[in-house]
Amino acid sequence: MSAITGHQAAASDLRARYARLPADRRVRLAKPTSNLFRFRSDAGRIARLDAGALDRVLEVDPVARTATVQGMTTYEDLVRATLAHGLMPHVVPQLKTITVGGALAGLGIESASFRNGLAHESVREVEVLTGDGRLVTATADNEHADLFRGMPNSYGTLGYAVSLKVELEPVRRWVTLRHIPFPGASGASEAAEAITAICRAGSYDGERVDFLDGTVFSGNEQYLTLGRFADEEPYQPSDYTGQRIYYRSIQHREHDVLSTHDYLWRWDTDWFWCSRALGAQHPVGRLLWPRKYRRSDVYRKLVALDRRTGLSGRVRGWRGLPQEEPVIQDIEVPVERLAEFLAAFHSEIGISPVWLCPVRLRNPEGWPLYPMQPGRLYVNVGFWSAVPLGPGEEPGTYNRRIERLVADLDGHKSLYSDSYYTREEFEGRYNGPAYRELKKAYDPGGRLPDLYEKCVRER
Ligand SMILES: Cc1cc2nc3c(=O)[nH]c(=O)nc-3n(C[C@H](O)[C@H](O)[C@H](O)COP(=O)(O)OP(=O)(O)OC[C@H]3O[C@@H](n4cnc5c(N)ncnc54)[C@H](O)[C@@H]3O)c2cc1C
Repeated sequence: MSAITGHQAAASDLRARYARLPADRRVRLAKPTSNLFRFRSDAGRIARLDAGALDRVLEVDPVARTATVQGMTTYEDLVRATLAHGLMPHVVPQLKTITVGGALAGLGIESASFRNGLAHESVREVEVLTGDGRLVTATADNEHADLFRGMPNSYGTLGYAVSLKVELEPVRRWVTLRHIPFPGASGASEAAEAITAICRAGSYDGERVDFLDGTVFSGNEQYLTLGRFADEEPYQPSDYTGQRIYYRSIQHREHDVLSTHDYLWRWDTDWFWCSRALGAQHPVGRLLWPRKYRRSDVYRKLVALDRRTGLSGRVRGWRGLPQEEPVIQDIEVPVERLAEFLAAFHSEIGISPVWLCPVRLRNPEGWPLYPMQPGRLYVNVGFWSAVPLGPGEEPGTYNRRIERLVADLDGHKSLYSDSYYTREEFEGRYNGPAYRELKKAYDPGGRLPDLYEKCVRER
């Protein structure tokens, strides 16, 4: 049986299993990994649709530069298959177990996003198991173009992506890095100006820039990292999967070189910097932590276990420390508002480090459920930590502040983590009228949850 025939059988089987789920239960997609940061109690009547087996790369076409994959294929598997042909997806989200379907439904970004947009913008077609139980193929210009445009930021509330065809681009063997410091209080606005100039020219100091991201350690210490494909390694390549830690290297060296594979996964080994809280960056802890378990999905499982058991909260209580509010968010603001956002963030939230990633939509029409303005340059700001609650402060205080700040600066917030919007605000920010039309067309019976219920109410 060819991979495509095998896929058709698996997709029909998924559809049949979906039809058999009890009608009075809320459907939830079941797969072995997740990168969501909403830890739900699973209370209520849930029916799980196990889609974990739809995780294969079906075909890589090196001539057309496309790959056809099943919806639950991880980027780790897709990258392995495409690098073998000297190709990569246009945008590879940094965490290895993010899936191609998940990055479509929940959005994905990386350091190529200043030239290639969001991860889903290189999807050419998507086969969807819709809420009303059909299997349809949606493209930008067929009868399901509304679904094609509405899947991004729908979080599995219109249907599930069962297979996708994605565009690929050629790679070289190495990526050379240059970490440019922007010190001092004016560093953030200087970095924003540099981002604007680099994104406009596609180069810096006369050298092509293929990848661009940034790391903020404090209000006085910020860096942009410029990546450039190279055929030759100018010096000994680095390896940050061992004792050395990638994000720390940014503060200590101006130039570096990684294999393209290691560059794509540079943030996964230490989950950006979040492995620190689990002891994986302590010299002894790191020696003891087996290399194959230095991965974002392992750390996330440990954090999920802690959230379920409430262990670290109890330990803080025993030690007389204040409880903490998790603040795990990705937001984006227009580049010209970046310095303002960072200044307010440092004084009101105080988490560090912080990740920066410029992004400009590739599609001139934009995407209805995530209303970024086409043609406008934004900077994604990612922060994943916790803030101690002061006396009388309720959990939600700091996440609400971020929502207000983002709104004041004409930005947007991703929905993979906690949100506190009222329904009215949410509908205004995420195009409620367009969503309702899509829901009517693809899930009129409300078999799948509503987007607001799923992303805001279900905490
Ligand atoms: C700490 C942290 C850092 C992050 N950093 C980045 C980052 O730097 N870059 C980036 O790109 N993203 C980042 N993300 C966000 C991540 O890309 C999104 O959460 C993405 O949706 C996760 O995809 P997943 O495959 O793991 O899906 P899951 O976590 O399993 O699911 C996410 C949502 O999408 C739905 N879904 C999953 N698969 C499908 C499908 N096939 N069809 C329809 N709906 C589906 C699920 O129902 C769920 O609502 C980060 C998340 C966290 C927690």
